[in-house]
Amino acid sequence: NKIESEIIDDGVPITFDDIAGLRDAKQTVMELVCWPLKRPDLFTGLRRGPNGLLLFGPPGTGKTLIGKAIAYESGATFFSISASSLTSKWIGEGEKLVRTLFAVAAYREPSVVFLDEIDSLLTQRKADENEASRRIKTEFLVQLDGTGTKGRVLAIGATNRPSELDDAARRRFVKRLYIPLPEPEDREILLRTLLKKNKHRLSDKEIAKISKDKTNGFSGADLKALCTDAALGPIRQLGMRALEIAAEDVPPISYVHFKHALKGMN
Ligand code: ATP
Repeated sequence: NKIESEIIDDGVPITFDDIAGLRDAKQTVMELVCWPLKRPDLFTGLRRGPNGLLLFGPPGTGKTLIGKAIAYESGATFFSISASSLTSKWIGEGEKLVRTLFAVAAYREPSVVFLDEIDSLLTQRKADENEASRRIKTEFLVQLDGTGTKGRVLAIGATNRPSELDDAARRRFVKRLYIPLPEPEDREILLRTLLKKNKHRLSDKEIAKISKDKTNGFSGADLKALCTDAALGPIRQLGMRALEIAAEDVPPISYVHFKHALKGMN
């Protein structure tokens, strides 16, 4: 069956072009996983794509976006689950969910199963590990072993703490990719993209200053939070009056709003 992609984020599909920076990571996943998912007949034998991909690095750097873009660019169905949400389930419920997830993914192949916070589940054995999480972990490992045999399913694990994964889990994610914090020039690209969403009067010099000097160590998610806060600046300044004016009369976002927003974040 021809399956339409279901990768929708705020009603808009995520493509590699929507991800600022991360050129090396995008190039690698394109060749390594997108093409094999798209054309399994070409990628056989030694060229066969991996069944598991681990994305690791600081929070908010675009791991989930990459997962969605892989699915979109490969014409695959995207499934996503946060590992920590499974462990709160009753005994037996979590593992059933894992089994169902992979069964549906195989049925809707090609599929991408995105497993967020994978360290919380596939962690080295802890003394306080309970029966429920042990069973979910075992089921995960079984399902990860089965991917590729029942259909074209790529499991993508995401973690901020790769060192906490146990060996059994690491073996399942043959390909591992580091997703770093954005470089200053990537922050500028992202800032400019975000600023397109609202009226602003920041000069090129001010945009460069924010992205190069003021946001060292910021992730993409931090930058988005900064822009969201700055964008609320003009409304905050108007106070209750904002509710009475026409949308086009809202003053533009300015450097002052960014200065206030930055103060709140540091
Ligand atoms: P976590 O480890 O906390 O789950 P993550 O690495 O999966 O985070 P995402 O959820 O992909 O990060 O990113 C969070 C938000 O930050 C995105 O929705 C996007 O708005 C923004 N963002 C982060 N990195 C980028 C990027 N490289 N390009 C564009 N937007 C980005």
